[in-house]
Amino acid sequence: MSDLRKNILAEAGRIVIKLGSKILMDASNKGVNLEFIKKFAGSIAILQRAGKEIAIVSSGAVGTGMARLSYADKPKNIADKQVCAAVGQIDLMHAYRNAFEKEGITVGQILLSAEDFRDRNRYKNLQNTFNSMLKHKVIPVINENDSVATAEIKVGDNDKLSCDVALFWNADLLLLFTDEDGLFDSNPKTNPKARLLNFVPEINAEILNSAGKPGNAGSTVSTGGMHSKVEAVKAATRSGCNAFLANGTKILPHQVLFENATGTLFLGNAKKLGSRKKWLSFVSTPKGSITIDDGGVNAIRKKSASVLPVGIESLSGHFSAKDLIDVKDSKGNKIARGISRFDSENLRKILRTKNQKEAIHKNDLVVF
Ligand code: GLU
Repeated sequence: MSDLRKNILAEAGRIVIKLGSKILMDASNKGVNLEFIKKFAGSIAILQRAGKEIAIVSSGAVGTGMARLSYADKPKNIADKQVCAAVGQIDLMHAYRNAFEKEGITVGQILLSAEDFRDRNRYKNLQNTFNSMLKHKVIPVINENDSVATAEIKVGDNDKLSCDVALFWNADLLLLFTDEDGLFDSNPKTNPKARLLNFVPEINAEILNSAGKPGNAGSTVSTGGMHSKVEAVKAATRSGCNAFLANGTKILPHQVLFENATGTLFLGNAKKLGSRKKWLSFVSTPKGSITIDDGGVNAIRKKSASVLPVGIESLSGHFSAKDLIDVKDSKGNKIARGISRFDSENLRKILRTKNQKEAIHKNDLVVF
């Protein structure tokens, strides 16, 4: 097992690294932790010399803006958060540019929203941008476009964003740096006997349980908690990307690859999903959902059938024809995703009717 762990990490060629706000801010939250960025840039230089391709997903814009604008607590309303992000993002990128320049590396900023992943053409454009940057040896530093982001166009948190980037860029490894040593079998803050998991071959219910409840971020500046990290890792590994969770306050990226560093390795599924399936399953954010009856569930699961209007019990959200939607069973579990052939208004009119036109054609459907 330890050889497998070592090889997976050392051989990863394309790596997405996510840095959380807690690591990027200095201890008293007075702006960017320049000491950290300097060490981090040195570590990335080692990886680049070893021929690795790197993209960085960086939080810290809101936190840095809060420091500059003297906010004591994270602003609650979206307009204030947008202002903090607009101000902080500049400081953040300034810190990256200075530190990486000293290592002879050029960085470039990419700010994304859920829309960039929703539309398949924009998604492909983004892939081209990344590939061009790669050709010029420019390292992309990515964040959510928080200064214009509103609830509908938000990816969510940077754990999810880093997973999306890892999937569309076809990365071998998603490296998530947090301020904990990895994933434990129970909460190490409340259970002194909690055991660190070195290797997780599959994310099952027990593993999800160890990650605690959603929304437990536990800091003034960060957004996601352990739960959102494990959810992101789950999507990445199911699409075939390995993931590693480490403590960024103690460990640098090159140590994860080459020095058997402490942390949790999550094994990616051996069968990599194709680009379109990956996009359908995990990356794009659905615009709405439909609930189908047991007959419909059976038909898509056992007979790989299309979703027909007759089996649809209800729908929610406003979507257009060709938008991605979730498919739920009658208990509310998400069981599939696919591209609707109808807009929500017209689909609503034919629910439960014998209309033979597919609501989601089987070729546009991914069943979980
Ligand atoms: N995009 C946010 C920022 O730069 C952070 C979101 C997150 O940490 O998940 O402040």
